[in-house]
Amino acid sequence: MSEIKEFKTESKRLLDLMIHSIYTNQEIFLRELLSNASDAIDKYHYLSLTDDKLAKRNDYEIHLDVDKNNRTLTITDNGIGMTKEELETNLGTIAKSGSLDFKQENAKKKDIDIIGQFGVGFYSAFMVSDKVEVISKKYGSEEANIWTSTGIDGYTIEPTSKESYGTDVILYLKDDTEDEKYSKYLETYELESLIRKYSDYITYPIQMEVEHQHLKEKQRR
Ligand code: ADP
Repeated sequence: MSEIKEFKTESKRLLDLMIHSIYTNQEIFLRELLSNASDAIDKYHYLSLTDDKLAKRNDYEIHLDVDKNNRTLTITDNGIGMTKEELETNLGTIAKSGSLDFKQENAKKKDIDIIGQFGVGFYSAFMVSDKVEVISKKYGSEEANIWTSTGIDGYTIEPTSKESYGTDVILYLKDDTEDEKYSKYLETYELESLIRKYSDYITYPIQMEVEHQHLKEKQRR
């Protein structure tokens, strides 16, 4: 087991806000993760225009996978990917501390789209997940790493194997409660509707396997 690293203080504060869901519009986690995936592909694309070492490609894609048995939703991109150091700095710290202060001040004004305005992004995954894994392989690197966190306690980074370049973000959805049915994020219909709602500005294809289980249920009716 590798050592558990602590988040920076500001990240902890933001995570705490996310985990305790000060924000009611939890579904926007998907917008934030799709946007990160799209940015990662953009980064590859722009680099490839000037760097001959990066192949010109036309297979850019964001992929969603659902595993109902394990209650996971995975968002995969074939963009630039992250090194171990990048996983550490990008996911362990918050660059824009100003946005955190604003968030805390406005936490009670539920109808302000604070997260949207400031794009605190990735940590919004913890609004719907009690564990998040990020498996990433930077373009051109032989090494892949897995970043794992169950929230406030910190995170670990370990070497792993991954065939393709890019990033998989695996969300282990929280258990359903009386008020919140997190399992809706495992339903094709719900995901399709969220993708339609939140992917207007994304120019890359977003693919999703339609679950066999889902199809069978449909056929039975
Ligand atoms: P923002 O996207 O506003 O910078 P986030 O908290 O959403 O903030 O993400 C932090 C950083 O982590 C990003 O700036 C990016 O460098 C990195 N990152 C997040 N998701 C991905 C991804 N899918 N691929 C590559 N890098 C990513």
